[in-house]
Amino acid sequence: MAGLCGTDYSIWSGDRPVRYPLVPGHEFVGHVDAIGEGVSRVRVGDRVAIEPNYSCGACPLCREGNRNLCLSRTAVGIDVDGCFAEVARVPERCCWPAPPGVADEDLLMTEPLAVVVRAIARAAVRPGESAAVVGGGTLGLLAVQVLRGRGARVLVVSRTARRFGLARELGADATHAVGDGPLATAAEAFSGREGVDVVVETAGTPEAVAHALVLVRPGGRVALTGLPHEPTPVTFFSVVRREITLTGSMIYQDEFPEAMRLVAAGIVRTRPLVTHRFGLDAIGEAFAAHRQPDSIKVAVFTPTR
Ligand SMILES: [Zn+2]
Ligand SMILES: [Zn+2]
Repeated sequence: MAGLCGTDYSIWSGDRPVRYPLVPGHEFVGHVDAIGEGVSRVRVGDRVAIEPNYSCGACPLCREGNRNLCLSRTAVGIDVDGCFAEVARVPERCCWPAPPGVADEDLLMTEPLAVVVRAIARAAVRPGESAAVVGGGTLGLLAVQVLRGRGARVLVVSRTARRFGLARELGADATHAVGDGPLATAAEAFSGREGVDVVVETAGTPEAVAHALVLVRPGGRVALTGLPHEPTPVTFFSVVRREITLTGSMIYQDEFPEAMRLVAAGIVRTRPLVTHRFGLDAIGEAFAAHRQPDSIKVAVFTPTR
């Protein structure tokens, strides 16, 4: 079972060109069908969630543990063939044994969840803090739950109010639509002080970065995990004068086990985010559904043999 995300869509549409032909898809869970020589981490028949990035393992960045930053990192479904297929081939170190009793559909979002787990760890969120999540998509709705799990109170800020009902159901304490009054006022009202302690930016647009900087209090932290490709205007005067800590967070290093633990423990619920399901033979419809306003996560599956 695979999840479709914006990256897949942009590869499919050509907005993010790759070396075609390519089988895209990088969010997946499946059964081990065959193993290569010397493989010991998994056995045939095991159910695994896939960490779809692997690094060179030899450069200084890899050796010091920063494998997500490796300049020779390989991304499954982007650099090499991915999971929108009956079978996919990945190195054994990408395979994480699925916790027993947790359905594929619940583990489907382990990959984006690992992204969020890392961003929130980098923001060093403490119990009792106030947090804002910018963006109400998959990453945003996962961030709400991880923050709640860490004991923070959460305000969700989004361009539209479309996901606010679900956000509250998943643990958001408050919501604010951009355009419904000044963001700074909303952050002050929610935090009861000059702004929120922590902002997790998940939308990946220049506007979202600007919103994060308005929501955060002096001395607060902003973790950026969306990837705005466009130039992003930032008033660094306000970053310096207010001593804002801006932290980039890139995919994940060792967060897969924690992501699966959060799902298995019921701290994060991923299934309510799956809005559409298609068989692999209807992949074209799956891509079309991704663009629908009511879509959060589109799942693509092949029948189990
Ligand atoms: Zn993705
Ligand atoms: Zn490396």
